[in-house]
Amino acid sequence: MALPEVLSRIAAAARRTGREPAEVTLVAVTKGRSIEEIERRVLAYGDFPLGESRVQEARAKIAAMPQRRWHFIGPLQRNKVRYMRPFRLIHSLDGIRLAEALAARAEREGYKARVLLEVNVAREPQKHGVLPEELDPAVRKLKGLEPLTLLGLMTVAPLADDPEEVRWVFRELAAMAKEHGLPQLSMGMSDDFEVAVEEGATLVRVGRALFTE
Ligand SMILES: *Cc1c(COP(=O)(O)O)cnc(C)c1O
Repeated sequence: MALPEVLSRIAAAARRTGREPAEVTLVAVTKGRSIEEIERRVLAYGDFPLGESRVQEARAKIAAMPQRRWHFIGPLQRNKVRYMRPFRLIHSLDGIRLAEALAARAEREGYKARVLLEVNVAREPQKHGVLPEELDPAVRKLKGLEPLTLLGLMTVAPLADDPEEVRWVFRELAAMAKEHGLPQLSMGMSDDFEVAVEEGATLVRVGRALFTE
Protein backbone atom coordinates (compact mmCIF):
# COMPACT_ATOMS: atom_id res chain seq x y z
CA MET A 1 0.00 0.00 0.00
CA ALA A 2 1.21 3.51 -0.58
CA LEU A 3 0.71 6.20 2.05
CA PRO A 4 -2.23 7.94 0.30
CA GLU A 5 -4.21 4.72 0.45
CA VAL A 6 -3.58 4.39 4.18
CA LEU A 7 -4.80 7.99 4.60
CA SER A 8 -7.96 7.36 2.61
CA ARG A 9 -8.69 4.22 4.66
CA ILE A 10 -8.22 6.22 7.86
CA ALA A 11 -10.57 8.90 6.52
CA ALA A 12 -13.21 6.34 5.52
CA ALA A 13 -13.05 4.64 8.92
CA ALA A 14 -13.40 8.01 10.66
CA ARG A 15 -16.43 9.00 8.56
CA ARG A 16 -18.12 5.64 9.18
CA THR A 17 -18.37 6.59 12.85
CA GLY A 18 -19.17 10.26 12.38
CA ARG A 19 -15.67 11.51 13.05
CA GLU A 20 -13.61 14.02 11.09
CA PRO A 21 -10.59 12.49 9.32
CA ALA A 22 -8.53 15.41 10.64
CA GLU A 23 -9.01 14.07 14.17
CA VAL A 24 -6.67 11.18 13.33
CA THR A 25 -2.91 11.57 12.89
CA LEU A 26 -0.92 9.01 10.95
CA VAL A 27 2.38 8.26 12.69
CA ALA A 28 4.63 6.55 10.14
CA VAL A 29 6.59 3.84 11.94
CA THR A 30 10.06 3.93 10.42
CA LYS A 31 11.99 1.44 12.56
CA GLY A 32 14.29 -0.66 10.40
CA ARG A 33 13.81 1.63 7.38
CA SER A 34 16.56 3.61 5.76
CA ILE A 35 16.51 7.38 5.30
CA GLU A 36 16.04 6.81 1.58
CA GLU A 37 12.97 4.61 2.17
CA ILE A 38 11.54 7.10 4.64
CA GLU A 39 11.91 9.92 2.14
CA ARG A 40 10.42 7.96 -0.75
CA ARG A 41 7.56 6.18 1.04
CA VAL A 42 6.59 8.78 3.68
CA LEU A 43 8.04 12.27 3.34
CA ALA A 44 7.28 12.47 -0.39
CA TYR A 45 3.62 12.73 0.73
CA GLY A 46 4.03 15.23 3.55
CA ASP A 47 5.64 16.05 6.86
CA PHE A 48 4.23 13.12 8.86
CA PRO A 49 5.39 12.37 12.39
CA LEU A 50 7.85 9.48 12.40
CA GLY A 51 7.71 6.74 15.01
CA GLU A 52 10.85 4.94 16.16
CA SER A 53 11.12 2.15 18.70
CA ARG A 54 14.85 1.70 19.27
CA VAL A 55 16.84 4.45 20.94
CA GLN A 56 20.17 4.01 19.14
CA GLU A 57 18.61 3.75 15.70
CA ALA A 58 16.40 6.74 16.41
CA ARG A 59 19.33 8.89 17.52
CA ALA A 60 21.14 8.31 14.24
CA LYS A 61 18.05 9.15 12.20
CA ILE A 62 17.24 12.25 14.24
CA ALA A 63 20.80 13.46 13.69
CA ALA A 64 20.27 13.02 9.94
CA MET A 65 16.79 14.61 9.90
CA PRO A 66 16.55 16.90 12.93
CA GLN A 67 13.65 18.96 11.54
CA ARG A 68 11.23 16.06 11.39
CA ARG A 69 8.69 15.35 14.09
CA TRP A 70 9.91 12.23 15.89
CA HIS A 71 7.82 10.12 18.22
CA PHE A 72 9.17 7.40 20.49
CA ILE A 73 6.97 4.28 20.49
CA GLY A 74 9.18 1.46 21.79
CA PRO A 75 10.16 -0.02 25.11
CA LEU A 76 12.03 2.52 27.20
CA GLN A 77 14.54 1.78 29.92
CA ARG A 78 15.28 4.17 32.72
CA ASN A 79 18.91 4.56 31.67
CA LYS A 80 17.74 5.83 28.24
CA VAL A 81 15.50 8.67 29.39
CA ARG A 82 18.35 11.09 28.74
CA TYR A 83 17.78 10.57 25.01
CA MET A 84 14.11 11.50 25.02
CA ARG A 85 14.33 15.27 24.66
CA PRO A 86 14.13 15.39 20.83
CA PHE A 87 10.87 13.42 20.73
CA ARG A 88 7.64 15.38 20.35
CA LEU A 89 5.71 12.58 21.98
CA ILE A 90 6.59 9.43 23.92
CA HIS A 91 3.84 6.83 23.38
CA SER A 92 5.28 4.07 25.53
CA LEU A 93 5.63 5.28 29.10
CA ASP A 94 4.79 2.10 30.98
CA GLY A 95 5.43 2.54 34.66
CA ILE A 96 5.77 4.91 37.57
CA ARG A 97 9.51 4.47 38.16
CA LEU A 98 10.18 5.17 34.49
CA ALA A 99 7.93 8.23 34.68
CA GLU A 100 9.84 9.49 37.70
CA ALA A 101 13.18 9.02 35.94
CA LEU A 102 11.92 10.85 32.86
CA ALA A 103 10.47 13.65 34.96
CA ALA A 104 13.75 14.08 36.84
CA ARG A 105 15.67 14.28 33.58
CA ALA A 106 13.23 16.72 31.96
CA GLU A 107 13.31 18.88 35.06
CA ARG A 108 17.10 19.00 35.00
CA GLU A 109 17.13 19.89 31.29
CA GLY A 110 14.31 22.38 31.65
CA TYR A 111 11.77 20.94 29.24
CA LYS A 112 8.35 19.35 29.41
CA ALA A 113 8.06 15.78 28.14
CA ARG A 114 4.79 15.00 26.36
CA VAL A 115 3.76 11.44 27.11
CA LEU A 116 1.13 8.75 26.70
CA LEU A 117 0.72 5.94 29.22
CA GLU A 118 0.86 2.46 27.70
CA VAL A 119 -1.82 0.05 28.90
CA ASN A 120 -1.65 -3.74 28.57
CA VAL A 121 -5.37 -4.00 27.98
CA ALA A 122 -5.34 -7.67 26.97
CA ARG A 123 -3.03 -8.67 29.86
CA GLU A 124 -0.51 -10.40 27.64
CA PRO A 125 2.43 -11.50 29.82
CA GLN A 126 5.06 -10.59 27.20
CA LYS A 127 3.65 -7.09 26.61
CA HIS A 128 4.62 -3.79 28.13
CA GLY A 129 2.23 -1.41 29.79
CA VAL A 130 0.37 -1.00 33.05
CA LEU A 131 -2.49 -3.40 33.75
CA PRO A 132 -6.00 -1.95 33.74
CA GLU A 133 -6.25 -2.08 37.54
CA GLU A 134 -2.96 -0.15 37.83
CA LEU A 135 -4.20 2.66 35.62
CA ASP A 136 -5.89 4.87 38.23
CA PRO A 137 -2.88 5.25 40.53
CA ALA A 138 -0.52 5.59 37.55
CA VAL A 139 -2.56 8.38 35.99
CA ARG A 140 -2.83 10.17 39.33
CA LYS A 141 0.93 9.90 39.80
CA LEU A 142 1.76 11.10 36.27
CA LYS A 143 -0.58 14.06 36.49
CA GLY A 144 1.34 15.12 39.58
CA LEU A 145 4.75 15.04 37.90
CA GLU A 146 5.28 18.65 36.84
CA PRO A 147 7.82 18.06 34.02
CA LEU A 148 5.52 15.58 32.28
CA THR A 149 2.42 16.40 30.25
CA LEU A 150 0.17 13.35 30.14
CA LEU A 151 -1.91 13.57 26.98
CA GLY A 152 -3.46 10.14 26.65
CA LEU A 153 -3.19 6.38 26.51
CA MET A 154 -1.56 3.89 24.16
CA THR A 155 -1.93 0.18 23.57
CA VAL A 156 -0.58 -2.56 21.32
CA ALA A 157 -3.39 -4.99 20.54
CA PRO A 158 -2.77 -8.76 20.47
CA LEU A 159 -1.99 -10.39 17.13
CA ALA A 160 -5.18 -11.57 15.49
CA ASP A 161 -6.21 -13.07 12.17
CA ASP A 162 -9.24 -10.82 12.05
CA PRO A 163 -9.01 -7.23 13.41
CA GLU A 164 -12.58 -7.56 14.70
CA GLU A 165 -11.13 -9.87 17.37
CA VAL A 166 -9.30 -6.93 18.95
CA ARG A 167 -12.01 -4.29 18.64
CA TRP A 168 -12.79 -4.77 22.35
CA VAL A 169 -9.20 -3.81 23.25
CA PHE A 170 -9.54 -0.46 21.47
CA ARG A 171 -12.99 0.09 22.93
CA GLU A 172 -11.72 -0.50 26.46
CA LEU A 173 -8.75 1.82 26.01
CA ALA A 174 -11.09 4.54 24.70
CA ALA A 175 -13.34 4.12 27.74
CA MET A 176 -10.33 4.37 30.09
CA ALA A 177 -9.10 7.55 28.40
CA LYS A 178 -12.55 9.11 28.57
CA GLU A 179 -12.89 8.27 32.26
CA HIS A 180 -9.63 10.09 32.97
CA GLY A 181 -10.33 13.04 30.67
CA LEU A 182 -7.36 12.21 28.43
CA PRO A 183 -7.76 13.37 24.80
CA GLN A 184 -5.18 11.28 22.91
CA LEU A 185 -5.52 7.60 22.01
CA SER A 186 -2.59 5.91 20.26
CA MET A 187 -3.90 2.62 18.92
CA GLY A 188 -3.98 0.71 15.66
CA MET A 189 -1.15 -0.67 13.48
CA SER A 190 -0.95 -2.01 9.93
CA ASP A 191 -3.38 -4.88 10.50
CA ASP A 192 -5.95 -3.16 12.65
CA PHE A 193 -5.81 0.63 12.19
CA GLU A 194 -9.25 0.92 10.61
CA VAL A 195 -10.96 -0.78 13.56
CA ALA A 196 -8.90 1.39 15.94
CA VAL A 197 -10.05 4.57 14.15
CA GLU A 198 -13.67 3.39 14.36
CA GLU A 199 -13.14 3.04 18.12
CA GLY A 200 -11.68 6.52 18.55
CA ALA A 201 -7.94 6.43 17.80
CA THR A 202 -6.41 9.89 17.44
CA LEU A 203 -2.95 8.50 16.56
CA VAL A 204 -2.40 5.36 14.49
CA ARG A 205 1.08 3.84 14.30
CA VAL A 206 1.50 2.29 10.88
CA GLY A 207 4.72 0.69 9.64
CA ARG A 208 4.60 -2.30 7.28
CA ALA A 209 1.57 -1.12 5.32
CA LEU A 210 3.49 1.98 4.20
CA PHE A 211 6.59 0.14 3.13
CA THR A 212 5.30 -2.94 1.32
CA GLU A 213 3.61 -3.03 -2.06
C1 LIG B 1 6.52 -1.71 14.87
C2 LIG B 1 5.46 -1.04 15.68
C3 LIG B 1 4.30 -0.52 15.07
C4 LIG B 1 4.01 -0.66 13.60
O1 LIG B 1 3.65 -1.97 13.31
P1 LIG B 1 3.26 -2.42 11.82
O2 LIG B 1 2.62 -3.74 12.04
O3 LIG B 1 4.53 -2.45 11.05
O4 LIG B 1 2.31 -1.40 11.28
C5 LIG B 1 3.39 0.14 15.88
N1 LIG B 1 3.58 0.27 17.21
C6 LIG B 1 4.67 -0.21 17.83
C7 LIG B 1 4.81 -0.02 19.29
C8 LIG B 1 5.65 -0.88 17.08
O5 LIG B 1 6.73 -1.37 17.71
